[in-house]
Amino acid sequence: MRQLIRNNIAIRSSLALLGVSLVIGIFFSLASYVYFFDDEQKHTISTMQDLLNSAENTASIACYLSDKNLANEVVNGISKNNVVSKVTIHSGKTMLAVSQKTSIPTSFELPFAFKHYPDFISREIFSPFNPREKVCTVNMEINQATVNKNSTDKALFIVELLLFQNLLIASVLSLIVFVFFTRPIKIISDRLHALSPQKGELLKHPENNKENELGRLVNDVNQIIADLVSSLDEEKNLRLQHALEERKFQTFFENAETGIFKMNCKGELLSYNQALTRMLNIATDDGAPSAALLELISGQELRLHLMIDAALNESRVVSEDFCIEPGRLKEKKWINIVLHAAENDLLQGLINDITERKYKEEAAQQLAITDHLTGLNNRLGLERKLAHLMKENAHGHPSPFFLLLIDLDKFKEVNDTYGHKAGDMVLIYFSNVLTSILRKTDFIARLGGDEFVVLLCDMSDQEKAIEIAGKIITEACRPIDIGHGISASTGASIGINYASGDSFSADKLLAETDLAMYEAKQSGRSAYAIARYETSPDQPQSI
Ligand code: GH3
Ligand code: MG
Repeated sequence: MRQLIRNNIAIRSSLALLGVSLVIGIFFSLASYVYFFDDEQKHTISTMQDLLNSAENTASIACYLSDKNLANEVVNGISKNNVVSKVTIHSGKTMLAVSQKTSIPTSFELPFAFKHYPDFISREIFSPFNPREKVCTVNMEINQATVNKNSTDKALFIVELLLFQNLLIASVLSLIVFVFFTRPIKIISDRLHALSPQKGELLKHPENNKENELGRLVNDVNQIIADLVSSLDEEKNLRLQHALEERKFQTFFENAETGIFKMNCKGELLSYNQALTRMLNIATDDGAPSAALLELISGQELRLHLMIDAALNESRVVSEDFCIEPGRLKEKKWINIVLHAAENDLLQGLINDITERKYKEEAAQQLAITDHLTGLNNRLGLERKLAHLMKENAHGHPSPFFLLLIDLDKFKEVNDTYGHKAGDMVLIYFSNVLTSILRKTDFIARLGGDEFVVLLCDMSDQEKAIEIAGKIITEACRPIDIGHGISASTGASIGINYASGDSFSADKLLAETDLAMYEAKQSGRSAYAIARYETSPDQPQSI
């Protein structure tokens, strides 16, 4: 029952109305009871006084004449009133008339204790001829039980009427509240409870409530439902789209040929894809930080850490090539690492296997500095070597060397006599002579035609350099077999120059040496001449 009252707004409001009206009703009923009871008592007293007034003249005559019969007439007349219980007329000690009722109610229980009302009325009667002469006294006893009963009956009737009126008003009010408020609200509540907004259902208006405040409430709720459904649909679509994007990214991540990874600032891999596992031959990602990359590029970790610092501190994309030596992998590999900062001091990156590209680049580089006929370095190769040596000197790693500029003697005649191919054979032969005489650490280049340059690296001993030049000249002078039983003969003139390890100019060095070589030619060929530098002898020498 308590649950029903708590859950049902109609019952609750009806009970509240009834309760309040009952309390008000009881209060006003009590007030009415007291008022009407009091009024009835006063009315009875007033009636008794009127009765005495009407009998006063007759009683005056009866007393004046001491007429007992007339006095009895008077008391009998007064006694006819039902609230009078006893009437006496006496003159001094003489009783003229008495009237007393025997069968009357003697007591009536009052529901409340009211103030005491007089139950005895006495009236002095004066002579009809002399209003100052008292002739007798009329005493009238009021039957209080009858008066109380009459008063109570009247007051209770009013109370019942009032209570009934209150009850009726409360019931009508409850009905009005039920019909106009609680019932439509309950209908809205029940419909809202059973509503499925996902199916596009909307709330229906309760009957006759389309235009009023409840109708507006239903409209507003429908609007909110529509907005909510639309937001939910939008969110669903977004989530679906997001899931698709994520799936796409996952597929891309898993199937990419490029290694994709996440790294912490220590250089440890936090997650990576299958491509990276295959490329670097490392264990499959198990979610734990891995130092596999650091191990693979061991010795070059500093470069990786510099990249990490640059990516994190300068917020830029950094990229570097790393060489992984065989041993860690089956074969030497080149990888390109691209790094950029992600959130929370982490980095994202890509690794591509650039071994093939690197080899192609190296081959192209090699080709650019290689003389296609002899396989020796060409002029570009020499320039690069000299530039490298200059850099070394500048960086405080002096490496002194002797530069020998060699030009074959009368080579044109070989070409002219035996043909260009034979000339080529002589050039190839001579390059092999140089390779066999010189150390692996020395540098040999063919500048073009029959002109060669040799760098005797890390050498500061001029005697040694001269000795080597002598060997070259001796070997160049030997007859060269060019096939078909034919031998070609040539020779070599050499200019010798020295670079002590200080900074030098390559052009100047070559120009000086060229002059020395020219001097050697001038001296009759198959000779060497030393360029004019501080410590050198300046006379051309013949072997
Ligand atoms: P000298 O003793 O004064 O040096 O006389 P030379 O005959 O050697 O004259 P020079 O050094 O000026 O001649 C070089 C020649 O080499 C000229 C050119 O025709 C020839 N030559 C240049 N490139 C090639 C080549 O690739 N193959 C061949 N067979 N000959 C070449
Ligand atoms: Mg020559």
